[in-house]
Parts: sequence; C-alpha cells; structure tokens
Amino acid sequence: MEQRAEMLNREMTRLWQEVEEMSQEQRSPEQTNQRQSGFAWASLLLSALQHWQCWAIAGVLVLLFGLCWWLRKWSCEAETQEESSDRDVEEEEDEEGNDDANDPGRYLEDAIQRRVQNWDRPCEAVNSLVEKFIILFNNDFFNTSFPVLEKAIEVGSVFEGWSPHEEDIPYCLLVPLKPPRGHIFHLEPCSMWPGRNFRVRVELVCTCGMVQPTRETRCFLHDPEEEQRRNEGPSILQDLCTGSYLDVQKTAEWFQKMVRRFWKDLPESAAYRLMPLPSERSCKFRVLRGWEKMFLIELIFGVQEGDSDIFLSSQYIEAAYTSRTLWPETYAVAEMKFFRLIASQAQPDSFHLRCLQLCTRSLMGREFSAYTLKTVVMHLLTTMPLSHWHRRHFLQRLEDIMGYLQSCLKKRCLNHFFIGNDNVPDVIILPLELRMTEPFNIFQHLAQNPNAHENAQLEFEEMQHRLHGLLLHGR
Ligand SMILES: [Zn+2]
Repeated sequence: MEQRAEMLNREMTRLWQEVEEMSQEQRSPEQTNQRQSGFAWASLLLSALQHWQCWAIAGVLVLLFGLCWWLRKWSCEAETQEESSDRDVEEEEDEEGNDDANDPGRYLEDAIQRRVQNWDRPCEAVNSLVEKFIILFNNDFFNTSFPVLEKAIEVGSVFEGWSPHEEDIPYCLLVPLKPPRGHIFHLEPCSMWPGRNFRVRVELVCTCGMVQPTRETRCFLHDPEEEQRRNEGPSILQDLCTGSYLDVQKTAEWFQKMVRRFWKDLPESAAYRLMPLPSERSCKFRVLRGWEKMFLIELIFGVQEGDSDIFLSSQYIEAAYTSRTLWPETYAVAEMKFFRLIASQAQPDSFHLRCLQLCTRSLMGREFSAYTLKTVVMHLLTTMPLSHWHRRHFLQRLEDIMGYLQSCLKKRCLNHFFIGNDNVPDVIILPLELRMTEPFNIFQHLAQNPNAHENAQLEFEEMQHRLHGLLLHGR
C-alpha cells in the first residue's frame, strides 16, 4: 500500500508539472499567437482544448488526491489496529506478572481495553461491544439511584440462526434493567390487546434493616444525607419516569446519550465510526468503517418478570399509539432459549432453521409477519420428532409449514406459542399464569375482520407462488 501511495505521489507531481507548463503557455499569449499567427481559428480551438485539458487534469488530480488520502487513512487504521493489538498483548503480559488483578479499576480498564475482537465473527463482536458499554454505564452510575444494567441477552432471528433479511441484518440485544438500591419495580398489568402489556411503577423502599456493604448507599427514605444526594444526583424517579412509572422513551434517550458519550473511550472508536439512528423506544446505531456498514445494532430494554424467561420490553407493539409508559411483554428471551434447546437436541444438519428462513423470504409483509411463521415452526418443532427435520425431508417440512398456516387461516386461529401452551419445554421458565391461562389467538383480527381474512387468503396464495419460485429459480 505504501508503494502504491508513493507511486501515486510521483504521478501527481508529474501531472502538476504538466499543468504548470500549460499555465505558462497560457500566461504568454503573445508568444502563442506569434507561433500560431495565420491560424486564428486553429489557435482559438487549441486554446479551448487546452482549457478543457486543464480541467480534465485538475479532475484527475482531485481523484488521485482523494485516492491517496483514502490509502493513507486505510494504512493508518491498519497501523492503529496493529498498535492496539500489540498494546493488548503487552497488557496481557503485564497482567500475568501483576498482583493487583483483583483491583476493580484495573478490571474495568482491562475489560474496556481488551483486544479489539475479531470482527469477522459479527455476533461475537457485537456482544463484546455491548458488554463494554454496559461495564462503562454501571461504573459511571455506581451507587446512584439509576437502574443497574445486567448482561445483555442476544435475541432475535440473527442470534437464533436464521434471518428474514439478506442484508443489513439487525443485531438485537435485550438489556435487563434492575431497580437501583432502595427502589423496587412493581409490574402492573394494564391492557390485553395486542398481547399482554404492563406498566412499571418505581417505588422507594426502606433499606434501614439491610446490611450495608462498603460503598453502598444508606436508606434513601430515612437518611437525610442520602435523600439530599438522591435529590441532587441522577435519579430514576426524576429522570427516567413519568409520574412514578418508568418511561420507555426517557430510558431510550438516556441510553442513546450515554452510548455517544462512552464511544470515544472504546478502542474501537480509533478505527470505526458510530452512527446513532433515530429510535423512540430503543437504542439503535450503526458501526461503520469509513463508509462501509459493519453492524446495525439495536438495544431494547427489559424488566424481568420474577425469575422467568419472560420480560417486559421497550419494543414497539403493533398498535396505533403505544404509550410512553407501556411495557409490552416480550417472549424474545424464551424464544432464543427454545431455539438453543432445539439446536442441542437436533442433528447438526437439521434443516428447521433453513425451512423457516426460506418461508419468511417468501413473505409479502402485510397480513403475515416473520413472527407468524416462527410461531408455526415452533409449534411444529414440539409436535413432530426432530429427526423429521433432516435435509432429505426438507420439501415435506416446507409443505407442513404452509399446510399448518393454511389450516390456521381457515380456522382464523393461530395460538401464541408461550401463552397457555402445554407443549412449551419445561426448561423454559414461564410465569405460572402464562402456563395456566387460556391460549391466546394471534389471528384474532382475522376472526373479527372479514376483509383482513380475505386479504390474508390472497396473500397466502401469493406466498405459495413465491415459495415455489424460490425453490425452482432461487428467487
Ligand atoms: Zn429506612
């Protein structure tokens, strides 16, 4: 690359010389006229041509200059990465001979300065980046009355091993929020459609009777000094709530602000760019190298229901208006756990994820969503032996998926996989009422609206047509 840059520099110098020569010729028009007297028309033409050539050469120079700049930047980035790697190796070596490995400050530094991950493995890289952000947040807001962030959980299709999209795939992680010390979250059910929704009431509790570890706060309610500190510093009730309810948008805004602030502290910021994206209920950003898109990351926030795999999340729900204090129930963590369980039990060459991926790519995205098909596949995975998902049964399984969807369409009923379903594996921890309740019909709107049902039938036929196209022609 350096040789190429040098060669381009030489080329630039040569072209500059040519431009200089041409300019000199232009600066002495009398000489030019003398040489070309008697050829007025030819002279005029030549002058215009020279002018044109000047511009063309200037254009080439600009291009070359741009290319040189890009090459230098590229080579600098490579050097920075190398330096960073070397530094990390040195740090690792230092650490081996160091006794203060238990120092929390040292731990933080190590966690943040850890080797820039191998970004050829995107899931790992995204995870590591988000982990670093969370360490920085928790360190910055330690011992305040701001929520504590737990380790982010990978959710969504990419981490499950399939994707309805071919490019610009979003990596989604759920960041569990725990109440700060001296606070408690009350989950209050508030509406049932579309799905189970809650509000999260934040309340102060007395901690006088609790053992106070070093550096922890004393009681916010009965210690005037602590109360004053709470009123002056960042506070969940003042900064992230509306009334006493946790506000989705305020939480997302706070997180977005913090991501921008902490980005420059990460070693990745030397070689990559962070581009925040607008999002009211999550923290969405792109990581770029120059103009090349690396990752699209979306962080959603979650409040765990007891010790179950079900969370209340900041995700959007399919409603015309989603209140800022509404936290819909999400099954994303349970779904992730379900697909991991299936992966551990199925043969390594099982085709269930490919079947799901292929079906979702035939979607039109109007009446049916990827979630509809995912629900169908989850039902089928629990009602038929996993060995049936082998590659050689591939076509039959595609037919099963479409056949199941067709029969649901006919009945106007597709049951939610995690609500009132006895077939959910026991390893997935569900709140008791979710196991005991009546099944929940995802196709309720089709039962209520004949037009929607008719559209869904037409869309189903089109989907079948598209699926055949995908199988026969690959598109
Ligand atoms: Zn107290």
